[in-house]
Amino acid sequence: MTKLNYLFDTYIFESLAKVAEVGENEIGKYLILDETIFYPQGGGQKSDSGRITSSQGTFIVSVVRMDQNGQVFHYGEFENGSFVIGESVDLKVDGEGRKLLARLHSAGHLLDCAVTKLQIPGLKPTKGFHFPEGSYVEYEGNLENPMEYVSQVEKVLNELVEQDLKVKIKEITEEEAKKCGIWVPEGKSARTVSFEGFSSCGCGGTHVKSSVEIGKVKIRKMVNKKGSLRISYKLEEV
Ligand SMILES: [Zn+2]
Repeated sequence: MTKLNYLFDTYIFESLAKVAEVGENEIGKYLILDETIFYPQGGGQKSDSGRITSSQGTFIVSVVRMDQNGQVFHYGEFENGSFVIGESVDLKVDGEGRKLLARLHSAGHLLDCAVTKLQIPGLKPTKGFHFPEGSYVEYEGNLENPMEYVSQVEKVLNELVEQDLKVKIKEITEEEAKKCGIWVPEGKSARTVSFEGFSSCGCGGTHVKSSVEIGKVKIRKMVNKKGSLRISYKLEEV
């Protein structure tokens, strides 16, 4: 199981780790480390990219994934050389990319806070997609004429951005997580994320420290899709 050092600090872009495994599977060449600052794709958040180096070689990380046991696979290619098991390596995450992904993810959570604040009836949040292209939050339920809500959701959301609301991250036990229906790798703790003044939800993503870091958000559209409502958004400054 890889120790996940990105969980409690979004802004660590460089660190050290030890090589646990160098291998290849159907996805590609991979590295497993004892700990990592690379975010593995999941929870609607795109994985980090970056590079892992030592005096023996350089590995370019393009995709990161976690398996069901909480093992993190850093996929990519050796630019040169290779690593041996137990070797100490330098990790460097693309910091600008990470900051953007954190702002996008936090914006999705804050969008839900805006919907909560507006007390739009009949909507239950189900999932979020926080990739730079096509970010959205989805709800169970439909609205009549959903586009009529766009301007008020956008207005309240941007008011919440300006209120500089702090993000609160809390670690919870595996048992507490199961009670809330939050997936957590076997034997690991989970955590919840919330903006101050709003309810928390289970989330393993990377987040900003405060809403003001997100900057202005634009609601692109609100559309009914079968039994759900999708609210698409984007950041004004990227
Ligand atoms: Zn989340």
